[in-house]
This record gives sequence, C-alpha cells and structure tokens, in this order.
Amino acid sequence: MSDTQAPARSTGALVPPLGEHLTTAATRAALRLQNRLLHSARDHLGAQGFVELLPPIIGPVTDPGVRGAKQIDIDYYGHRYKLMTSAILYKQASLLAFDKIFYVSPNVRMEPLETAGTGRHLVEFHQLDVEIAGASRDEAMRVAENLLAHVAGQAADQAGAELATLGRDPGALRKETGLPFDRLSHREAVEALHRLGHPQSADAEIGWQAEELLSAQFDRPFFVTDYQKGSRGFYDRESREEPGVLRNFDLIAPGGYGEISSGSEREHDYARLVTRMRETGENPEKYGWYLALARKGLPASAGFGLGVERLVRYVAGLSSVWQAAAYPKLAGVVSP
Ligand code: AMP
Ligand code: MG
Repeated sequence: MSDTQAPARSTGALVPPLGEHLTTAATRAALRLQNRLLHSARDHLGAQGFVELLPPIIGPVTDPGVRGAKQIDIDYYGHRYKLMTSAILYKQASLLAFDKIFYVSPNVRMEPLETAGTGRHLVEFHQLDVEIAGASRDEAMRVAENLLAHVAGQAADQAGAELATLGRDPGALRKETGLPFDRLSHREAVEALHRLGHPQSADAEIGWQAEELLSAQFDRPFFVTDYQKGSRGFYDRESREEPGVLRNFDLIAPGGYGEISSGSEREHDYARLVTRMRETGENPEKYGWYLALARKGLPASAGFGLGVERLVRYVAGLSSVWQAAAYPKLAGVVSP
C-alpha cells in the first residue's frame, strides 16, 4: 500500500469541442497508445490460441447487471431489441464454436447524470471481452493479470514518445504492473475501508467512491474477489461451498484509477440460471434464445471484460476517461 492520492478528476464540462479534442497532442498520444495497447492485446491473446470474433451490437436482451445505467431500445422489425450494454450472453454462446474467444466490443449504457464528473464513466465505451471454456475464476484472473502486465510492459517499451507527451514515466509503469498482483477478498476490502473510516456494508457492492478510496492506497494493480450475491448479474456463478458469495473478481488499477475489469466464473446450468434470473428480478421469458442454449448445454466457463478506455486512462495516467476516447460521450453532455 502507499499514500498515493487519487488523480485529480476533470469533469464533463471540460470536454472540448470535437475538432479541438482530436487535434491536441494529448489526445493524439492517448489514441496512439490505445492503438498500441489493442495491438499487443491481440498479439498476446492470439498467441495463446484465442479466436477474435466480431461482437454483437444489438439483441433481444442484453446484460442486465449494469447497476444504475439504463439500456437503449431499438425497433427491430416490430420487435423491441437492445443495444449491447455488454456481450456477456454471446460470449457464453460463442464457446459452442471455440474454447477461447475475445472481442473488442462496443457498449452503450445510459449512465446516470451524476457520473459525468467521476472521471471513469462514458456512455459509449469498449471492452476487451475474454471468455475461456472450462476455466475457473482463478484461471481467468491469471489470464487478466498476464494480459495487463503484457500490454502495459509493451507500452512502456514501445510507446515512450506517447507516454512522455502524457507525462507518464515508462519505468514506473513497467515496475508497477509487474506480476503477480495482490488478491483481496471482498471481506478484506471491506475491512480495509473500515480502517480508512469508510462505512462500507459487508454484504453490498463497493461503490465507485469507496473503490477510488481503496485504490488510492495501492501502488500496484490488485484484485478484489468474492463479491456478494445481489451486487452482480445472474451469470456470475454462486459458490457452492459458500452460498451467497459469487465466484467473481474486479481488477482494480492503483492510485485512485479504480476498476478496470470485472470477471467471473459463469453460471451455465439451466435451472440455476432461471433461479438466479428470478432472484435478480429478471423475467426468464425475455431470455428465450439464451435459456434454450443453456437447456441444451452451454459450456462451463470463466472470463472478464476489460474496459479499453479505462485501461488507456490508467496506462496513460489521464485525469479522466473521456481523454482516452476519440468521440467522448458523457452522461447528459450532448456531443457528436
Ligand atoms: P461491468 O460489466 O460494469 O463490470 O463493466 C466491465 C468493464 O467495462 C469495467 O470494468 C470497466 O472497465 C468498463 N466500463 C463499465 N462501465 C463503463 C463506463 N460507463 N465507462 C467506461 N468504461 C466502463
Ligand atoms: Mg464491473
């Protein structure tokens, strides 16, 4: 742990007009860095046998586990479809074709207005979405930490000019993203928050402010595992040994940057999925195509989604995630 402070956040009100944003040296450096991070992620995953698929953009249902954010409906020939808030359901389905897949997938979430100034929420963003048949939660965590260490190391080695423009020291970046990363259970994270004087409930989601506080205590990325049922989507598998605890994780960037990835072992059993849907207030009838696949047999799996703009923000040391997007959209801010 360190006594690092959270990065100063810049608010949505500061987003310049697009013509100005796209021509600043800082935006160009951040976007070149994004390009390099995506290249090295593709190389790294490809070398391990992952197949990149093109992601879905619309579907009859999408990920309901997006706390506070609204989904967007579209009219699909008289049927109500959704823009993807995340491609989780399709990731599980894709394992019927291949054992290891990834996407770089676009997501749209109508985040609440108050997120415009958090420095970490966009309305339109992208995930590096990874899914692995037969993997455990801990195996997925190893894939996630290797991926982050690899792409950050490659950026430190090869993106010196971009990092210099953005004021990020490549040596420090390489050092802080060296493996392995610490692992805290949700319970340990709650205890750490109590020591910091934050009244975190032991069986609730850790909100972004508390997470920022926790993240500011660390000088290297770390995992928080075992979030409580109720805080996450129906697809995060519940522990058989510890009912109420989910086999999931968040990967959290240090220095106040906060969550950059969430992942889990997935529920794939038809009856348990229906129960979990009901428990999370979802109507199973809406999930017809997905439950039909589950009834026939979806592969067991684990995986994660790593936010691309949040990754760039952290690697580049940017004060706000919009600085890592070519066409930033923040809650309530009308922009092209
Ligand atoms: P979630 O499904 O909410 O855990 O999202 C998966 C990952 O996507 C997160 O770990 C973030 O890196 C990224 N992410 C989620 N919501 C947003 C957002 N509103 N803006 C930017 N990135 C996001
Ligand atoms: Mg998450």
